Amino acid sequence: MKTDKSSKHFTRRQFLDRSSRLAAAAMAAPALLPQHGSAAEKPAPKKMIGLQIGAVSFVDEGIEQTLDILQSKGAVNTIFLTTFTYGRGLAGRQIPGQPFPDHGSQESDEKAFHGGNYAMPHPEFYQNTVLKQTRAPEHGDLDIVKEVLPAARKRGMKLFCSIEDVFRSDVPGVKEIAEVDLQGRRTGTLCLFHPDVRGFWTGLVTDLCKSYDVDGILFFNERNGPLLNAVGASHSQSIASSRVTCFCEHHQKAAKDRGIDFARAREGYTKLDQFVQAALKGQRPSDGYFVEWWRLLVEHPEIIAWDRLFDVGKHQVLAEVNAAVKSVRRDLQVGFHIEHVNSFNPIFRATRRYDDLATKADFLKVVVYNNCGGERYAHFMDNIGSTVFRDVPKDELKRFNDHLLNYAEEKSLSELATAGLSPDYIFRETQRALAGAQGKCRILPGIDIGIPVGKNSRKASPDDTYAATAAALKAGAHGVIFSRKYSEMRLANLEAAGRAVREFKG
Ligand SMILES: [Zn+2]
Repeated sequence: MKTDKSSKHFTRRQFLDRSSRLAAAAMAAPALLPQHGSAAEKPAPKKMIGLQIGAVSFVDEGIEQTLDILQSKGAVNTIFLTTFTYGRGLAGRQIPGQPFPDHGSQESDEKAFHGGNYAMPHPEFYQNTVLKQTRAPEHGDLDIVKEVLPAARKRGMKLFCSIEDVFRSDVPGVKEIAEVDLQGRRTGTLCLFHPDVRGFWTGLVTDLCKSYDVDGILFFNERNGPLLNAVGASHSQSIASSRVTCFCEHHQKAAKDRGIDFARAREGYTKLDQFVQAALKGQRPSDGYFVEWWRLLVEHPEIIAWDRLFDVGKHQVLAEVNAAVKSVRRDLQVGFHIEHVNSFNPIFRATRRYDDLATKADFLKVVVYNNCGGERYAHFMDNIGSTVFRDVPKDELKRFNDHLLNYAEEKSLSELATAGLSPDYIFRETQRALAGAQGKCRILPGIDIGIPVGKNSRKASPDDTYAATAAALKAGAHGVIFSRKYSEMRLANLEAAGRAVREFKG
């Protein structure tokens, strides 16, 4: 809650000084920056054209200067301002080891980055949680929402606070409310059934919506249940079947209320762990990997029930966040980020209904990142092809999975990472989301602009970014959200995305 005055942290005064220096520089060298009002030459697009951005970009590049660029190059009319996270996907400069884009500081903030709440937390909203000290320290006493909001308003731009369920273990209180894994160990992730965790999320969004005249909240939670985690069913995780969660007292109680047998669930996950560890060593069960896996699920239906319990906890928090925001003001909007695994994994897809999510949100930000999508899809195939589907050659498995997912034009497994996924993938995933939501909420595909990838994997080009944005709009999306954060986007790519928005006729 308090800021460290004795440190070399950036203060609000320094921030304002730097902003006015940047403004003076812009006036002295007008050709270097886009002009005020250049976006006004064309009518503002009716669709929501959002962009995700963290506090550091405004600190490094100035508020007015940055908003100028977003409007003039990207045709952006909505700011998704990273307000709470301890993660580097949404906050901070370019992640270490990746090339900096052609704007902002070119110096790594690896050491300075901490994360937390970049607005000013008001203690009265955190009475029902042990998480009372979450204020991000790296920009001193700067309250980024307070500073950016009036500048955005002046331009007719909307502003949403983005909040993300990513913590670090040294945050006071985290250890007490963390999940418990299969072996009974505390982990670094928070239990979504814990009353203090639920109290934190509702307290945070109430604080942000009451303390600032924002347009609403975009909530990020990319966490998976234990079944998917055990078999490596996402693109990003390592397979850690002995560390699956959550088996804490609150989960045990929630299970009991639903008639799920805790001991049987734990036994099921212990056997699943043995299956996965043997599969990773290539120790083929006599009936084959898939049959053995399916048999585990048939003999221990508690495995699926416990995985479902995770989703219940996650979606309960979404519903509570939505209700808390609406209780501040009915017209405030709530959106949920729908993670990339929803694109790749048919088992995950089966656990989500767009029309059900639509009952808890005004809009869904559906991830359709296509450049990094190639690398991520390949990684997912590698994970799932090392356990449950280990009997199937991976390139055949990938083709089979393409059919399940209704992908038509994607490259072979060996070419996926370098080729990325196609605009057709974006078109199809957008249409699937629109059909699933049945008009009950808006669909805003998340467009990949420079999301970091491996050295030889597909990087965004202006043509790709134009095609991706155009595909989402052509599919009927209610808008787009440029992702993941401005501090990793090259300006030529942002400009191409803006051109697709301006040239879209629909
Ligand atoms: Zn728990």
